[in-house]
Amino acid sequence: MSADPVTETQLLRGAPVAAALRARSLASSSLLRDNLGVVPTLVTLHVGADPAALAYRGSIERSMAKAGVEHRGITLPPTTSAEGLIDAIAALNADPLVHGVLILMPMPPHLSLEIAAEHLDPMKDVDGVTPTNAGRLHLGLPALRPSTPQGGIELLDHYGIEIDGRDAVVIGRSNIVGKPMATLMTMRNATVTSCHRKTVDLAHHVSQAEVVAVAAGCPGLIRGDMLREGAVVIDFGINVIGDTIIGDVDAASVMGVAAAYTPVPGGTGPVTVMVLASNTIAAAFASLASPVEADRRPLAPSELDALS
Ligand code: NAD
Repeated sequence: MSADPVTETQLLRGAPVAAALRARSLASSSLLRDNLGVVPTLVTLHVGADPAALAYRGSIERSMAKAGVEHRGITLPPTTSAEGLIDAIAALNADPLVHGVLILMPMPPHLSLEIAAEHLDPMKDVDGVTPTNAGRLHLGLPALRPSTPQGGIELLDHYGIEIDGRDAVVIGRSNIVGKPMATLMTMRNATVTSCHRKTVDLAHHVSQAEVVAVAAGCPGLIRGDMLREGAVVIDFGINVIGDTIIGDVDAASVMGVAAAYTPVPGGTGPVTVMVLASNTIAAAFASLASPVEADRRPLAPSELDALS
């Protein structure tokens, strides 16, 4: 535990991180358009008319335009069968003008992300949900990575926050946020504890951590009095309460205890969509490789840098 009391909590705002990613994406998408005649294109596919999913699509659309990525929204009726969803995904897989496909959640209860993920071409899987990309991530191989946790890592890196060797707790173990966040931090040499709904003493685990990442969808779950002084807190939570959006962290109580904290809104959210843009661009570059090449894999960020 730090001997000096922390008096000032640094707000880790997403805007400058998103701006840096956007600049990189714009350079790469210009290269694709101007030199190779390829317009990187993302399709968001939604079944039904969930307001949160449609709001997310709106924010994706605005952000993609600024990153040089074309966006198309496809909405299927809520009565769409599993076969209908699989057919729609197959058509997107076969469309050479589509480089990335994001399945917007939630879906009607008779469908699931797993059904969609099983049928999506891993080369177009810009949120890392297919078994191929999830497996490659867990094996430490190049892959399109889930945008939200990858954004969390980009945020930490942007602000120069050390991950290597630190004790970290990740709360939430979903396939799109918590689990890959734990994997990404393990790959960066953190010692990671994964907590979830059945964790017996969450407060104890949180009190030990130097880095706390929370993706539970549970407002106020993490309070300042649970934290080790000087902890870094990454809040992925998005909870709509009336007209307000709040995270999973009780923001007021962590001020003066945490060394740094991602505010909600304005923390991880803007970075997530910019990772989606860079994943779409990486997928567009990868689509140019000959299909007979054995190693049809997305470019790693360092390879993208080399191209831009
Ligand atoms: P999910 O419902 O699939 O998973 C929630 C996880 O949190 C589960 O593993 C569950 O065990 C755990 N959990 C729930 N309540 C808990 C509790 N009281 N104590 C300990 N663990 C608990 O959710 P998800 O899709 O991973 O999303 C999590 C949150 O992140 C939501 O608020 C969602 O809106 C948000 N989210 C944010 C972004 C972003 O860009 N910031 C992107 C996706 C999701």
